[in-house]
Amino acid sequence: MLRSAMPVPRLAPTVRSAPSAAARDLIELEHRYGAHNYHPLDVVLTRGQGCWVWDVDGNKYLDCLAAYSAVNQGHNHPRLVRVLVEQAHKLALTSRAFHNDQLGPFLKEVSDLTGFSRVLPMNTGAEAVETALKACRKWGYKVKGVADGQAEIIVFEGNFAGRTISIVSFSDEPQYRDGFGPFTPGFKVIPYGDVEALRAAITPNTVAVLMEPVQGEGGIIIPPAGTMRRIREICDDHEILLIFDEIQSGLGRTGCMFAFHHEDARPDGMTLGKALSGGMYPVSAFVADDELMEVFRPGDHGSTFGGNPLGAAVGREAIRVLLDEGLVENAARMGARFGQHLRELRDPAVKEIRQVGLWIGVELHAEVGGARRYCEALMARGVLCKETHTHTIRIAPPLVITADEVDWAVEQIHAVFDELG
Ligand SMILES: *Cc1c(COP(=O)(O)O)cnc(C)c1O
Repeated sequence: MLRSAMPVPRLAPTVRSAPSAAARDLIELEHRYGAHNYHPLDVVLTRGQGCWVWDVDGNKYLDCLAAYSAVNQGHNHPRLVRVLVEQAHKLALTSRAFHNDQLGPFLKEVSDLTGFSRVLPMNTGAEAVETALKACRKWGYKVKGVADGQAEIIVFEGNFAGRTISIVSFSDEPQYRDGFGPFTPGFKVIPYGDVEALRAAITPNTVAVLMEPVQGEGGIIIPPAGTMRRIREICDDHEILLIFDEIQSGLGRTGCMFAFHHEDARPDGMTLGKALSGGMYPVSAFVADDELMEVFRPGDHGSTFGGNPLGAAVGREAIRVLLDEGLVENAARMGARFGQHLRELRDPAVKEIRQVGLWIGVELHAEVGGARRYCEALMARGVLCKETHTHTIRIAPPLVITADEVDWAVEQIHAVFDELG
């Protein structure tokens, strides 16, 4: 189905009142029975389509978070829903003890899309990153010749790669670590994109550099042009693997299929997740060339659900939707439009607007007192955003967004800055 054929709600500001008693009850259930590891906005969603979501009280919102870029293809894309349902009727899970008829084609299609010869499927982003770390360490010992137990991996300040103990071991966000030690050793953290610091941090035991081409959770932090290329060269000079974590930056978000395409700085391996399933099902992958992926032998690594036919079928269709609907090009076009109109906002509360493709961080001055009340005011006008790192409003709508929807969203943002100014 063409995007333009999907019904789009009438674009009018919805000034939403407080959640109903029914919505409050649902929030209370989460609060009463859930672990308190999140602090969501007071909105209870029940339905989605394209860029839009509806709450239990019938209010509609333009989703400008897109589940942290997992729903690049839009909510409930009809093609993804169809494949999910059809495959669920046929076969959902085999484990990797047996072959299934979706996995091989999925691996080939991810390989064709990424240009890497081998693909290792997992489920969540964190698992894909763990897989990459394991591959790099093992390559260090088996191929580079690093002494057992000595491998070092260099990462960057402000990184986000998931929540496992090994991954938070190299986070520099105190809250992600507090109370979770002892931590996994073997990581060095240097300032983001700092090539001189990288040169200084390298030792004979360095096996890999793990980098987000753009830091999403970090607040849409974009390194200076040429950084990826220079890091690629340094890694080549020292026989070090370069791994890009493209779980959020990949699959169109930045206006290129992968963020590394902006600089033609091909890594040795890459992690994918989030939009790899269009948000329909958890599907992630680590991709690499033969020399790196060959370190894995049967029994070395695995996952009960990784590569299951349901996820593989949905992943195949999610890739086809990105390509068939020209979503990468649309991200570039709509991103340019969004950014241009947003920059007309010359509000004194705004410290900086950072943007690549359809990924925008509006950082507010610290004196403004945080971005959350802006996100709450936007929600009241029908735009869902979530603050990141207290002071930054992150804008990352599904890549199916249209020009009218972009203009409407920017109008709401301007109105909120006027209200709160
Ligand atoms: C979201 C994200 C992850 C972790 O993915 P999960 O599916 O939440 O485990 C890893 N790296 C980056 C860059 C991400 O944005």
